[in-house]
Amino acid sequence: MNKFSFVPLIQGTETTDYVHICLSLSNGELSTEAMDEPQLMHEHIKTFLSDQGKSIAYGGYLEERSLYNRSSHFQSQHHKRNIHLGIDFWCDENRGVCCPINGVVHSFKDNENFGDYGPTIILEHTYKKSRFYTLYGHLTRESLKDKNKGQQIKKGAVFARIGEAAVNGNYAPHLHFQVIKDLEGKQGDYPGVCSAEELSFYKKNCPDPLLFKALE
Ligand SMILES: [Zn+2]
Repeated sequence: MNKFSFVPLIQGTETTDYVHICLSLSNGELSTEAMDEPQLMHEHIKTFLSDQGKSIAYGGYLEERSLYNRSSHFQSQHHKRNIHLGIDFWCDENRGVCCPINGVVHSFKDNENFGDYGPTIILEHTYKKSRFYTLYGHLTRESLKDKNKGQQIKKGAVFARIGEAAVNGNYAPHLHFQVIKDLEGKQGDYPGVCSAEELSFYKKNCPDPLLFKALE
């Protein structure tokens, strides 16, 4: 899928500013070394964007990635978790994140493990009497400061900012955006990556965020 098609999440952008990027195991362009090093990764993304004449690179739903092999956070004793369940939006740090649809703050947390989300916000939404959630990971710490559970966030409001590698779990700056049907009781956190064995459950519970446009 090469066409970006839902409400722009990054402040000050239009759909024409976005370009799809592939970060899967099969992408020969990107060395494992670059994937592991936030600064190299950021340089790669900046070059990619400038070559394309765009400002935001997005993608990654159900992408199988080597990026997670560096962190024990993703290795359980049973299965390797390396299939990505959200969409990432790669750009410069500190960009504002816009709320795509009216919601309230469900929960928020600084998930500080190496390779984890860092500061994270989960919003709760109701659509035609059904409830679902959107998760925003790799934010700045300041994004959490003025938040309260139940706080209303209006569609289009800038409610968070994209964090730098020092706070975001040690990644090149990007927003992790994920749609979740059942949060399974979690607060401020939900798996953003799963193993092949878990995929059939997670792809139902975390549908493709690009389908989000159907809610508009
Ligand atoms: Zn992600």
